[in-house]
Formats: sequence, structure tokens, C-alpha cells
Amino acid sequence: MQDSFRYKGMRKRLINELREKGIHDEKVLAAFDAVPRHFFLDSSFVEQAYSNMPFQIGSGQTISHPYTVAFQTQLLELKRGEKVLEIGTGSGFQTCILAKLGVKVFSIERHRELHLKAKTILQKLKLNARLSFGDGFKGLPNFAPFDKVIITCGAPFVPVELVQQLKIGGVMIIPVGEGAEQQMQKITKISETETTMEELGVFSFVPMLEKKVK
Ligand code: SAH
Repeated sequence: MQDSFRYKGMRKRLINELREKGIHDEKVLAAFDAVPRHFFLDSSFVEQAYSNMPFQIGSGQTISHPYTVAFQTQLLELKRGEKVLEIGTGSGFQTCILAKLGVKVFSIERHRELHLKAKTILQKLKLNARLSFGDGFKGLPNFAPFDKVIITCGAPFVPVELVQQLKIGGVMIIPVGEGAEQQMQKITKISETETTMEELGVFSFVPMLEKKVK
């Protein structure tokens, strides 16, 4: 897979669309300019890679809408050097956007095939992230605490372990809901025992599944 001026032009159009939809963080938009989304898609979808659409990525999973990735990333308000935990590596596209923003990314995926594919693509793009194969509900206690946590699958509830692995003052962006739709929540950990929660709109993700590592 190669990048080209044509794909770069298509990326600029997508970035304008994201801007019109309310993505104003220039660093997030620059990351979208730097990560070629068509690398993450099956060859039959490549021509539509820069439309605001989700696509099948194998193992019954999907790469999220570009707008959803941009919206969640913007909500994280990342600063260079922060430690970020992502649940649901999937294609690795969101992982690469985070890595481009200069944070230390840790990402967990429960499908071995997707985990291995994402590893290859990160190497190809020369981006650094620590990719783990396992159950995201458990997080990564050995690498905690994290400044930020982002969940990219629909969680049936807010996993306690993941809140525990957040620093005080840290933020988690998590779509919560058991059906086809979830409410995007921004959870801020204000003390060892207290959090605040803000609801930020309805989205649709594949489910976050427990104890089903494949
Ligand atoms: N961030 C991804 C989105 C992929 S879809 C991207 O940009 O492509 C969500 C992913 O979450 C799927 O790959 C799914 O297998 C994974 N997932 C679901 N439940 C999980 C769990 N408990 N632990 C880790 N990953 C999980």
C-alpha cells in the first residue's frame, strides 16, 4: 500500500468535513492528515477510505467513523508524553492517531488476528505503541496509572478496574450502553473514591465483550 497526492487530497477534504462537524483541535486534525486511513482497510474499500464511514476490518469488527475517532480524541485533551490506555485496538487507526499526538499509547485487543495485523501496520508507519492481546476489562495494572483511558467499543458498564488504573485528575472517554447505541461519557477521576460524569451524545460501537479472548 502506498500514499499518494490523490489520497492526501482526499484526506484534506475529510479534514474539512471534520472541521465542519465541530472538530476544532488543530493537533487532532494534523494527526488525521498524517495517518493514511486507506492503509487500514481491505483493498475493496480503499477508494472510500476518506469518507466519514465505518468499514469491516475482519473478525466481525469495524474501524470507527473518522468523526467518532476525532471526537473521542479531541475529548481526551492530550498533552505530549501522557500515558494513554486504549481498549479495542481493532485496525490500529485510533492507536496511530494517538501515537502521532506524541503520547505513550498502550492498547488492548481481544482478537489475536486483529492484534497481529495492527502490530504490522504500526511498524510500517514507524509509529510506537505497546499493543497487548487480552481482555480490556482488566486493563494493564502493570503499566498503570494512566493519564487518559479511551474505550473504542460499547461498554455494558464502566469497568471498575479501568477507573482504578486512572490517575487522579485523569479522564476516561467511554461509550456506555448494552444495545446498538451507547451514550458517550467523559469520566473524570477527582479523588481515589470519586468521579464526575458528563454525557456527550449517542454513538454506535461494536460491543465490549468480557472473558471472550479469541
Ligand atoms: N479503535 C478501533 C475500533 C475497533 S472496533 C479502530 O480504530 O479500528 C472495537 C474493537 O474492540 C474490536 O476490534 C473488538 O474486538 C475490541 N474489543 C471488544 N471487546 C474487547 C475487550 N474486552 N478487550 C479488548 N478489546 C475488545
